[in-house]
Amino acid sequence: MSKQKKRVIHFKSPVIDGSVSTAFAKCGQKNCRCHADPKALHGPYYRWIGNVNGKKTTRTIDAELAKEIKQWMGNYENLQRQIAQHIKETLDSAIWKRGGRK
Ligand SMILES: [Zn+2]
Repeated sequence: MSKQKKRVIHFKSPVIDGSVSTAFAKCGQKNCRCHADPKALHGPYYRWIGNVNGKKTTRTIDAELAKEIKQWMGNYENLQRQIAQHIKETLDSAIWKRGGRK
């Protein structure tokens, strides 16, 4: 068995994956400005779409949380980059050359 190094990954918390979407919408009132002018649609409305316990899930969120979640997704991307870098280092060390075929 080869030596295993202990490494520390530093990342900002919280982390979250998924995506944030923005939507504008018409309301139910026929005489409202939103029916006359596409620029006068209501919104923006924000949604987080991601996985909760393996199930695709959508949650309606407010503008402030949307902004925060985007930062948390950035934290997650940063963490993923670090993991990818560690995997790359493992692959770059040409582990295949270690032994013969079984
Ligand atoms: Zn309306």
